[in-house]
Amino acid sequence: MSLPEAIKSAVYTAAHFSGLSGALAARYRGRGTIFALHSIVDDDEFHPDHTLRCPAGKLEWILRRLRQQRFDLVTFDEAIERLSTPVARPFVTFTFDDGFADNLTKALPGMEKFAAPFTVYVSTGMVTREIDAWWFGLAALIRSHDDVVIPGLGRFHCADAPSKQRAYVAIEAAVHKNFDLLPAIRATLADAGIQIRALVDSEALSEEQLRTLSAHPLVTIGGHTTTHPNLARTTPATARWEMAQNRAFLEQITGRPVNHNAYPFGHSGACGDREAEICRTLGFRTAVTTRSGMLFAEHRRHLHALPRICLTRDENPSTLHCKLNGLSRAFNSRLGHPVVAM
Ligand SMILES: [Zn+2]
Repeated sequence: MSLPEAIKSAVYTAAHFSGLSGALAARYRGRGTIFALHSIVDDDEFHPDHTLRCPAGKLEWILRRLRQQRFDLVTFDEAIERLSTPVARPFVTFTFDDGFADNLTKALPGMEKFAAPFTVYVSTGMVTREIDAWWFGLAALIRSHDDVVIPGLGRFHCADAPSKQRAYVAIEAAVHKNFDLLPAIRATLADAGIQIRALVDSEALSEEQLRTLSAHPLVTIGGHTTTHPNLARTTPATARWEMAQNRAFLEQITGRPVNHNAYPFGHSGACGDREAEICRTLGFRTAVTTRSGMLFAEHRRHLHALPRICLTRDENPSTLHCKLNGLSRAFNSRLGHPVVAM
């Protein structure tokens, strides 16, 4: 756990046990939650990019707890229906971004055990292996080196597991603040002989796996663009092409309509009103960001800017309790407006 996560976890624990959360929940809980995950891994695997990875055992623990606490686990379409016609019980719907093969091999068995529907947002480039997934390369670089130098950013000592995870988080965050760092990162990866295509090949769903996943009754396939760019930095025509081509690709492979979309990266520097409008005019029914928030009736007017709650490998009873009660929004906004859109 990184230091900010440790602080957040301590705040959540204090909120959970102080009774503060009950008071805040009434305002911030909303009607339900869209949980966001990426890759599901074996419990004892080490990954520098741990922010993308959740152990299968932790996912099952979360699902068991949700069932015990009588949350309804619903499909994405059902979650949207419930914005208009609320039922008494709170609901959760699960989403997984990018198109990791482990969503089929490691997530699905756990989701089946708890009859939990989920949506997988798939980038075309994952399936075709053409995605320029510099973040896979960065993780591989950090994994195989005790010392990493990124020109323009600095030197990162990463000889042990915690420092490797800190280095990954620091470099990835720096890129998202300044995408002009990417050429230096690509050059560093090339110098180290790191082949992104081979990494994608070992991580991503194949066409056959995508077809299998999409045919499963618990699974909805959603769009996640063709090349996984930062859409906010593309032209309107490119943004439109990214989303439309990806949908056509997924529909052709799965033989099913693709009605839901997720913006790559999903933060405020990567998508905004322009992307929501393009997505809406393309005919997607909904789109999700990674802005942190719960679902409220007001989101019927913001169906292309739906917030989510990210789950991590570090969830415990307190963090989960606080996330299910909207407390991350309460804290992040310093008790501001509960409804998050663009
Ligand atoms: Zn993504």
